[in-house]
Amino acid sequence: MTKVFKFGGALMKDADGIRKVASIIKANANDQLIVVVSALGKTTNQLERILQLSINGNHNELSEAVENLKEKHFKIVDALFTDHLHCRNKLSDLFNNLEMQLKNLDPDKYVTYDRIVSFGEKFSTLILNAYFEYINLPCQAIDACNIIITDDNYTSAKINWQQTTEQVNKKIHPVLAAGQFVLTEGFIGSDPSGNPTTLGREGSDFTAAILASALDADEVTIWKNVPGLMNADPNRFKDCIKLDQISYHEAIELAFYGASVIHPKTIQPLQQKNIPLFVRSFDDLSIKASVISKDTSMDDKQPKVIVKDKQILLSINSRDLSFIAEDHLMQIFNAFSSHKIHINLMQHSAVSFSVCFDSNLNKLEALLSDLKNDFTVKYNDGLQLITMRHYTEELISNFVKGKKIFLEQKSRSTVQLLVQ
Ligand code: ASP
Ligand code: MG
Repeated sequence: MTKVFKFGGALMKDADGIRKVASIIKANANDQLIVVVSALGKTTNQLERILQLSINGNHNELSEAVENLKEKHFKIVDALFTDHLHCRNKLSDLFNNLEMQLKNLDPDKYVTYDRIVSFGEKFSTLILNAYFEYINLPCQAIDACNIIITDDNYTSAKINWQQTTEQVNKKIHPVLAAGQFVLTEGFIGSDPSGNPTTLGREGSDFTAAILASALDADEVTIWKNVPGLMNADPNRFKDCIKLDQISYHEAIELAFYGASVIHPKTIQPLQQKNIPLFVRSFDDLSIKASVISKDTSMDDKQPKVIVKDKQILLSINSRDLSFIAEDHLMQIFNAFSSHKIHINLMQHSAVSFSVCFDSNLNKLEALLSDLKNDFTVKYNDGLQLITMRHYTEELISNFVKGKKIFLEQKSRSTVQLLVQ
């Protein structure tokens, strides 16, 4: 069987996590295996902060933040190996490279973002690869930048499927055929000129799906620190239940509405090739995985709740009480698109258009300055977007008790409430 495994950063925050990854790989030694990994722990967030400090010229805090990141990685190396100069040297080289890049930032903020943030996955694969060699696992690391070929839409690059499939066949097939497993970075790729690109935050799941699709794999497993797919976020609600089976369609809906368990782009390539996706507990291997497949029979049996915090509701009104017509909408959508703001919910009335999106004050400011000449705009910050699939009226009333509702949208299967 050909299997793609994805391990996220939260599972690999220390040496024990990495040892466990290795033991899971060992247990699947009879399969053709492609292992996709994220950056260790919260590295991507740390790199985002490092980039911001560098842009702001905040040198003291910057060097402290880089030191912290180094320390975190070297601490894991020290815990994994009794003595591994080669790995330490290579990791030092990579950090030197990062520091050099921080001194020569590209004027394009999106190019720069991808260049800097993609280091996280390079650090993690370097360490994992060294460890797998050290314990004699037959592993070959393949640089994702050489196989995941994208356009130059930095920070959320689109896949060039034809070129990616060609590279996968050329570079991954021979390794698998030789009886080795493949280790590669999630989340990153490169554009046709070889610049690093990223696929959007939490994009490693998507990488796993891309590779599975290109390889016609038999299955994908996303290893998680939860028991499987849940009908709500267990960090938020007490009485969550595990979903044993949902359809691709249901999973796409959940990911779209913000269920953080799978990256939204992950499902579609798998659905097209009918490749099942397992979401499986990393902590307790005895728990049966949740399966996402074409089987729709369970979809409407259990309600599911997704909550997104930190929402902004922007109300855009025409200045002269004229209708918000198609040309206005085009202008509004263009503004959202040019600032790369993803819309979570929208509602249209005669003279007003309301849009809900994740709070980001820099982007909000840029958007307001684009719109304020032609529209009056008002906004509320700090709202919560609650989405329920296959809801019951009782569930809704439980959720809205004592809350002020700013916006409500209801279809037969889904209700969305923007509340405070
Ligand atoms: N490391 C990246 C992130 O934190 C990608 C991922 O984790 O999937 O967004
Ligand atoms: Mg992650």
